[in-house]
Amino acid sequence: MIPQGPGEEDYGALSEQRKLVLATYDLCAVCALPFRDELRWQVTFDDQLQQMGETFAFNEAPVHEVCALYAAQVCPFVSSPHARLGDAQRKGQRRAETLTLAGFTHTATVFGHDSELQVGESILMFEMADLRRIHRLTGADDARSAYEAVLRDEARIELDDAERRVVDLLCAPTPKGEDSGPVMAGAAWFIGAVFCPQIRRVQAMKKFADAEGDLYFQLAANFLDNPEMMAEWEDSNDASTAAAMSWFRTRQSVPAVLQQWRADGARRVRDVRGRRPRAVGAAVVVPRDEAAIRRRRDAEAALRKARRRKR
Ligand SMILES: [Zn+2]
Repeated sequence: MIPQGPGEEDYGALSEQRKLVLATYDLCAVCALPFRDELRWQVTFDDQLQQMGETFAFNEAPVHEVCALYAAQVCPFVSSPHARLGDAQRKGQRRAETLTLAGFTHTATVFGHDSELQVGESILMFEMADLRRIHRLTGADDARSAYEAVLRDEARIELDDAERRVVDLLCAPTPKGEDSGPVMAGAAWFIGAVFCPQIRRVQAMKKFADAEGDLYFQLAANFLDNPEMMAEWEDSNDASTAAAMSWFRTRQSVPAVLQQWRADGARRVRDVRGRRPRAVGAAVVVPRDEAAIRRRRDAEAALRKARRRKR
């Protein structure tokens, strides 16, 4: 048996699952709030951005401008430009001199891509489109003044109930004290992440990919055909699944990346079943179980309260 570094594999696994959740709901990787119509920012070093050419693909999920600038201040490369890389591991590595934050209007697509580090494994890539603005930061002062300027103009992001529920779940550990990424990723598969290109090859998705009877694909395909079916799952015992269903059913339009995955999925399901699935709209109105809704509201309120207490 080959011994493995403690938790190393888990760490990577969690982060891919979390990335998938962020992509599905179109949330910022730092604060977990939606982007709305704000630019989506990626962090690059030195001339990395120029070297990318026409296609801007990143292995990290994008963040808000204010979140990128906040992160830049605590990033060791930028916050201590004259500090020495003293530790043994980093000795000999060239230090990046400029941190370039790049703001794009939207995420073009998210897909699994073969990892350069682990053969046979894929990681999620975020392809960004329409580069609009850039911050070049060479030191902590740059980062701080840009951050303060953006903070002054920052608009508050208001969430509706279904969004709040998703964000609360993502920010809090599960009742067992575990990271919520893995359970939320399963729910994301149900509402369309199963159709993300190459998702089955991505680390830590095996559990969903190898589920008995291809449960995740089958269920997602059924939801594509019959969005009304999602109503029954809104009262699922699994909080992530219930939240995913409510969120999906109350969107006027779903985020572009998820929309794309589902359009892809509709084609695939049609190929498998030899017929055209019905067009999928976001919000479908069906009769609701009032008692279940009350129970859910209570659970949400308790969750919010628990979160406030933690702060
Ligand atoms: Zn953010």
